[in-house]
Amino acid sequence: MKNLNVLISGASVAGPALAYWLHRHGFTPTIVERAPALRDGGYAVDFRGEAHLTVLRRMGILADLERARTGMGFMSYVNDAGKPIAKLPADLFAGDIEILRGDLARILYDATKNHTEYVFGDSITSITEDAHGVNVTFERGAPRRFDLVIGADGLHSNTRRLAFGPEEQFVKHLGLYCAIFTTENHLGLDHTGHAYRTANRLVAMYSAHHNTQARAMFYFGSPALGLDRRDVARQQAVLAEQFAGNGWQSDRLLHEMRYAPDFYFDSVGQVHMDTWSRGRVALLGDAAYCPSSLSGMGSGLALVGAYVLAGELAAAQGDHRTAFARYEQEMREYATGCQKMGDGVAKLMVPSSRALASFLNRYYKVMPYLPGKNMPAKMARKAAENINLRDYRELARR
Ligand SMILES: Cc1cc2nc3c(=O)[nH]c(=O)nc-3n(C[C@H](O)[C@H](O)[C@H](O)COP(=O)(O)OP(=O)(O)OC[C@H]3O[C@@H](n4cnc5c(N)ncnc54)[C@H](O)[C@@H]3O)c2cc1C
Repeated sequence: MKNLNVLISGASVAGPALAYWLHRHGFTPTIVERAPALRDGGYAVDFRGEAHLTVLRRMGILADLERARTGMGFMSYVNDAGKPIAKLPADLFAGDIEILRGDLARILYDATKNHTEYVFGDSITSITEDAHGVNVTFERGAPRRFDLVIGADGLHSNTRRLAFGPEEQFVKHLGLYCAIFTTENHLGLDHTGHAYRTANRLVAMYSAHHNTQARAMFYFGSPALGLDRRDVARQQAVLAEQFAGNGWQSDRLLHEMRYAPDFYFDSVGQVHMDTWSRGRVALLGDAAYCPSSLSGMGSGLALVGAYVLAGELAAAQGDHRTAFARYEQEMREYATGCQKMGDGVAKLMVPSSRALASFLNRYYKVMPYLPGKNMPAKMARKAAENINLRDYRELARR
């Protein structure tokens, strides 16, 4: 086996899942994460279809996820007075297993912490490759040498910027912004969510942690605003400008936003790249092929990608050229299909005109009675299952 020491940037979904499989195949993973500690909380993510469940089962964590699932029921679209006008079934939003991203990160961390070196509160500043390895410098820690570097650091990947160039080349803005934060469950939502949609805007609330909390979620249509991702005050001001007087719970949630412990704000984007590797550096998950936060596909895609990348490295006995090429061959069509879902959902979830918003509200009302009512969930499942997973476990050493 070659190239045993692998540095991974990012400890969310893709990074720890890759570390899990690399260790099983006999590699030594190290993870560097910019956040000072494991990031808890956050929004709900979901897994759907056999490919996702197979990988979770093979990792031995399916039961842990099932225990931590949100157990969400249907999602209601409401009018300004909060009266439900349409109900959408849980499997459309929640897939087979829905779990808070922070809970998922914790399960993945627990499954890897005994055999993976985690370095929190640091970030790569340079990657210099030679014939035998990669010299890496960090914001805080001393320089180190690794055999390979994998960027699993999300939509705004630092590794991608260092190895491939500025993100403008790769990130496609889908014309929406999103904000999400923890709030009090003042509506008393019981394993359910309410969403209020107007032209170019959607505001929603869903219960979390078995109704002890809720998450507030805002989406609005806008061209790229060029906001500083660290300037939370400016982001909150933009959100307030967009939603003040918007109706339903908008004003109350805008007030609560100022006290939220975990305010998250970002553009909704996809990543499109001609290749996911350069020399000894490869990208994984959202860093390589983000399908957008609206697709409901990102976590499953990251998980499957990690399984395939580690498996191909093992199958090629660590030969990164062969493995990275095979990883792309196995994953490219799958990732493209999931990205197509992301495109479609963005347009439907936040319609650009009042006429379309009101048409969709009326359509959702009658949807449960139409013959094609299960079509959207079926399409999502089809995209999520569109891969023949190789069984790499025979290569696993541990
Ligand atoms: C609001 C929202 C809702 C979503 N809903 C769903 C859903 O319903 N279903 C679904 O499947 N997916 C959903 N997603 C997408 C899902 O969260 C991602 O696709 C998935 O988490 C991808 O995992 P990842 O590990 O590739 O990237 P991320 O989860 O983005 O993780 C990247 C990690 O890298 C770290 N990092 C960033 N920069 C650096 C750096 N310089 N150095 C070191 N570390 C760094 C970050 O702190 C983070 O821990 C949603 C996303 C958002 C934002």
